[in-house]
Amino acid sequence: MALLFIPEFNLQAFNTLAVPAIAENYVAVTTKAELDAALTYARSHNLAVMILGGGSNVVLGAYIKGLVIHMRGQGISVVEETEHAIELKVAAGEVWHEFVEYTVAHGYWGLENLSLIPGTVGAAPIQNIGAYGIEVKEVIVELSAINRATGIEVTFSNEGCDFTYRNSIFKQALAGQYVVLFVNFRLSKTPCPRLNYPALAEAVATVREPLTPELISQYVCEIRRSKLPDPTVIPNAGSFFKNPIVDCHIADQLRSQFPTMPIYPASGNKVKLAAGWLIDQAGWRGFDNGIVGVHPKQALVLTNKGRGTAKDILSLADSLVADVQQKFNVTLEMEPDSYGIPE
Ligand code: FAD
Ligand code: NAP
Repeated sequence: MALLFIPEFNLQAFNTLAVPAIAENYVAVTTKAELDAALTYARSHNLAVMILGGGSNVVLGAYIKGLVIHMRGQGISVVEETEHAIELKVAAGEVWHEFVEYTVAHGYWGLENLSLIPGTVGAAPIQNIGAYGIEVKEVIVELSAINRATGIEVTFSNEGCDFTYRNSIFKQALAGQYVVLFVNFRLSKTPCPRLNYPALAEAVATVREPLTPELISQYVCEIRRSKLPDPTVIPNAGSFFKNPIVDCHIADQLRSQFPTMPIYPASGNKVKLAAGWLIDQAGWRGFDNGIVGVHPKQALVLTNKGRGTAKDILSLADSLVADVQQKFNVTLEMEPDSYGIPE
C-alpha cells in the first residue's frame, strides 16, 4: 500500500509535553519496506528527517520542517529459547510498557524495574533507558537499524551501541544517522530480582509470597504512580535534566558546603549528583506560573499546565540551569532532544 504523507500534521497529541507543534510533513511507518520508502522520499525531496516514537523524550518547537517519520511497527518474536533464558526480537514501534507487561506475564526476568516508562521499544536504546537501579543495556543483545543516508540495514552488537549512563552511540558519534528497527533482548527464566534501589527494596521488604517479575513490576508501577505525574493527565517529558556526573573532588567540595547533598557512585573516578535535589534546593520545586511548572513531588520534572509551548518550557529550563549554576557551580544538561527550536 502506498504511504500516506500528510502535510501540516499536528503533533500536539504525539508528544507527552503536549506542546503545540506542526510537522511540515508526517508519515507513519509499520514495516522496513515502508521505512525504506519514507527515507527514500525524504532523500529525493531533500527533506530533513525527524524520527518519532512515543514523543516522551522530546521538546518540539512550533514548526518541524522536513519529514517526521513515526515508528509504528509491531511484533514480538522468539529468536532462541533455552531452559534458563529467552531471546526476543521486538519491533521498534511496540509500546515499551506493553512489551514489559508481556515479558513479566510470561515470567521472564530483566525488564520489571523498567515498568511504566513511556515511549517505544525503538527509543529505549537511544538513551539507554534506566530506572530503579537497572539500565536497558543489561538485557539488549543487539539491534538492527537503517542508515538514514544509504538505506542499508546494520546490526549493532551491545558493545557497538557504546551504552553509558542515559546515553549511547546514537546520541553521540552516530547521532541522527540511524533508525532503530528491531531490538533483541535476552531475558532470564530463573529468578534474578534487582532490589538494590532503596524505594523498591523498601516496598517489597514485607512481601511474604515469592517474588515474581510481575509482582516487582506492580510495585515499580505503584512507586512511580505515587511520585511521577501521568503525562496523559499532567503533560511532561519525565526527567528534564540528566543527573550530573562529576569528578570526585568536585563532589567533595560540594559536600563540604552542602552536607546533605546526595552523591552516588558512577563509573570511573566519578560520582553522580541528583539534579532534582539541586533544583529543589534552589527553591524551584512546586513552581507554577500558570503556564508551565516544576512538579511538586519531583523537581526534575517540568510540566505543561495546558497552554505552554516549547518556548515556555525552555525558558523555565534556562532559569533552572542558571540558578543551579549560580548556587552550586554545576551545569545541568537537558535530557530530552529538541526539534524545530529556532536558534
Ligand atoms: P521519542 O520521544 O519519540 O524520541 C526520543 C529520541 O529518540 C528522539 O531524538 C527520536 O528521534 C529518537 N528515536 C525514537 N525512536 C527512534 C528509533 N526507532 N530509531 C532512532 N531514533 C529514535 N526515561 C528513562 O530512561 N527512565 C525513566 O524512568 C523514564 N521515565 C519517564 C517518565 C515519564 C513520565 C516520561 C514522560 C518520560 C520518561 N522517560 C524515562 C523518558 C522517555 O520515556 C524515554 O527516553 C523513552 O525511551 C522515549 O521513548 P519515545 O518512543 O517516546 O521516544
Ligand atoms: P528518586 O528515587 O527520587 O531518586 C532521585 C535520584 O537519585 C534519581 O535520579 C536516582 O538516579 C538517584 N538515586 C536514588 N537512589 C539511588 C541509588 N541507590 N543508587 C544510585 N542512584 C540513586 O528518583 P525518581 O524521580 O523517583 O525516579 C525513580 C527512577 O525512575 C529513577 O531511577 C529515575 O532515573 C527513573 N526516572 C527517569 C525519568 C527520565 O525521564 N529519565 C523519569 C522518571 C523516573 P537514577 O536516575 O540514575 O536512577
